Amino acid sequence: MTQARQPGDPVTLSANQTPGLVCAHHHFYSTLARGMFAPSRSPRNFREILEIIWWKLDCAVDLEIIRASARLGALECLEAGCTAVVDHHESPNAIEGSLSVIAEAAEEVGVRVRCAYGVTDRHGADGARAGLAEGERYLRAGGRGYVGVHAAFTCSDESLEAAAGLAEDLGVGVHLHVAEGPPDSGAAARLASLSRDNWLLVHGVCLPDPVELAGTLVHNPRSNLNNSVGYARPRRFGKVVLGTDGIGGDMLDEFRLAYLCLRGEDVTASPTEAWAWLANGWELFPEALSDLVTWSYSPMDPWHLAFTPGVRPLRVERDGETLWEDGRPTRVDASEVRAKAGEQARRLHRRIAEMG
Ligand SMILES: [Zn+2]
Repeated sequence: MTQARQPGDPVTLSANQTPGLVCAHHHFYSTLARGMFAPSRSPRNFREILEIIWWKLDCAVDLEIIRASARLGALECLEAGCTAVVDHHESPNAIEGSLSVIAEAAEEVGVRVRCAYGVTDRHGADGARAGLAEGERYLRAGGRGYVGVHAAFTCSDESLEAAAGLAEDLGVGVHLHVAEGPPDSGAAARLASLSRDNWLLVHGVCLPDPVELAGTLVHNPRSNLNNSVGYARPRRFGKVVLGTDGIGGDMLDEFRLAYLCLRGEDVTASPTEAWAWLANGWELFPEALSDLVTWSYSPMDPWHLAFTPGVRPLRVERDGETLWEDGRPTRVDASEVRAKAGEQARRLHRRIAEMG
C-alpha cells in the first residue's frame, strides 16, 4: 500500500513525471477573446493589433468577466500540466479588486498565480495611479506577484519611476512588456537606469544589441509569431523563461515552438536549450517544484518531447492533493466553468461590438 504524499514531501520523479510546469507570462483576462466578432477592419501592424483588438477588450472587461475568464484560463493550464502562472492584467474600467478576483479564481481551480496590474497612462495619469494603487493594495494585503507596467511606450517617465520605486519598496520585481514591437523600440533607453535583476522583461524582440537591461527575458514564441513582430533571439539574454502571452497554458507546446524557432535560426540548436528555458520557470516559481504531474508519455525528455505532440497529464498533484485525474479537475466542475465562461464571453463580445 502506498501512502498519500504530504505537503512538503520531496518529489521523486518517475520517467513519466515532471514538477508542475510554469507559465511565466499569461493574461487570464484574454481567455474569452476567442470567438469574438471580427473587428471593423483588419489590423495591419502590431500597434493596430493593440488598438483594434486588445485595447478594446481590456476596456470591456468587468469583474464578472474577469472571474469567468480567469477560472477558464486556470482550468486550461491545469489540463496542460501547468500549475504555476505569472499573470499580467489590465482592466481600465474595473481596476480595484481585479487582482484579488484573479487570485481567487486561480485558487478555486488549484493553480498557483502571481499577479500584476499593468500600469499605463493610456487613460491619463489618474488611470496610471489607479493601476499602481491596485498592485500596491494586492501586494500589501499578502498577494503574491509583481508591480506591473503595460509597457514603457504607454507610460510617462513619472509612472515608470513610480512603478520601479514601489517594486523596490515592496521587495518585488516589475513585470512588463519590453520592446515587443516597433512602437516600444525606445524602451531600453527609458528603462536602463530603472531595471533590476528581479524584473520580468516580456518579449524583448526589438531590444538593441547588446541587451543592457537587468532582468529575465520572458520569451513568448507563439505570440511573437502571431503578432508578426520578429524573433527575440533569446540567447542574447542572461536568463530566459517561457510564457504564452495569454494563448492558453500548454507549456509543452510553447517549449516545442521555442525549440523550432531557435532551430530555424541555427540548425545545430538542441531541444535541451529550449527545455532549459522552460525549466528556469522553476527558479522563478519554486513552489511548482512540489507539484507533481504524471504524463501520458515516457520518458519526459526534451529530445522526445520536441517531436511528440499531444502529451497530456494523467494526474496533477499539488502538495499531495490531486487536482486533476481521469480527464477532470477535482476542485471545480469543468462543465460549469465552461458554461459560465461561455455566458460571460457572449456578454464580453457584445460589449466590444457596442464600442464600434
Ligand atoms: Zn503580454
